[in-house]
Amino acid sequence: MRLVLLGPPGAGKGTQAKLLAEQFRVPQVSSGDLLREAVQRETPLGLEAKGFMERGELVPDEVLLGAIEERLAAADCYQGFILDGFPRTIAQAEALCKLLGAGKLRLDSVVSMRVPEPTLVSRLSGRRTCRNCGALYHVEFNPPRQAEVCNRCGSDLFQREDDREETIRARLQVYARQTAPLLDWYRERGRLAEIDGLGDRSEVFSRIVTCVETRG
Ligand code: AMP
Repeated sequence: MRLVLLGPPGAGKGTQAKLLAEQFRVPQVSSGDLLREAVQRETPLGLEAKGFMERGELVPDEVLLGAIEERLAAADCYQGFILDGFPRTIAQAEALCKLLGAGKLRLDSVVSMRVPEPTLVSRLSGRRTCRNCGALYHVEFNPPRQAEVCNRCGSDLFQREDDREETIRARLQVYARQTAPLLDWYRERGRLAEIDGLGDRSEVFSRIVTCVETRG
């Protein structure tokens, strides 16, 4: 199962990628998580990526691509992966295609999640993440049982630095300018399935699974 999830920030890619990873028993590969971890550990990748992420801009390919290639070459990706947040530009999609092609592999599905902008802003500004296990919450739509504490592991929740109002706007603009053209790119190649990303997580999940299964 080699699946790419596309959609603007706040569309629910991370939430759905986790569910799909469980269902299909392949890892979730999130470029954002990979970068945030590098920033936290202050690795060379993290130090280079930090400023771009804080401004809501895309991290340049020279900085990111090597790390993605390395991640996808790891043993746990042998049976497949759920890519979340990558590719984000046509150049990245071409790089991915080349990378998979070298191993005579191809993507099984590319699913784009459609969500209207006002919903994205309210989802992102209320989003909270568990510091330890990465579980996702929303202060209003999916609150933890105890404020700021993860239901699953009891660790603290935090708000991502780039989930603040000004950065959210910048990220949505970056999406419209740099990532939206990627939808046409996959559509022209007959690879794109589009789903409605509104509704509760299990409804959205079934829509994605239906797309994946009907594409065989
Ligand atoms: P995300 O968690 O997917 O919203 O990503 C958070 C931030 O990481 C983005 O705003 C970018 O700065 C950076 N990032 C994540 N994925 C990519 C990518 N494929 N290309 C460039 N930058 C990325």
